[in-house]
Amino acid sequence: MRKGNCPKCNSQKILRNVRVIDRNGDYQDKSLSVRLERKPGALLFKGAETFDLSACICGGCGYTELFVDNPAELWRAGENCT
Ligand SMILES: [Zn+2]
Repeated sequence: MRKGNCPKCNSQKILRNVRVIDRNGDYQDKSLSVRLERKPGALLFKGAETFDLSACICGGCGYTELFVDNPAELWRAGENCT
């Protein structure tokens, strides 16, 4: 839905790159994100990297899709996971 109409209702009213908030129990708003761990089995130093998510939202039916803001960077980080 980054391009084109809504796949659910075919509306052209699409809001793109909307920030998705994660409050995480405190009063500071953060962006919802995914965390990639290069060494998930390690006790410490898991090689974690965090990537923000943003949303595309249909103004006709409310259908929402999430996207990683920088997929190429996430892919490069994930290619060498152990
Ligand atoms: Zn829709």
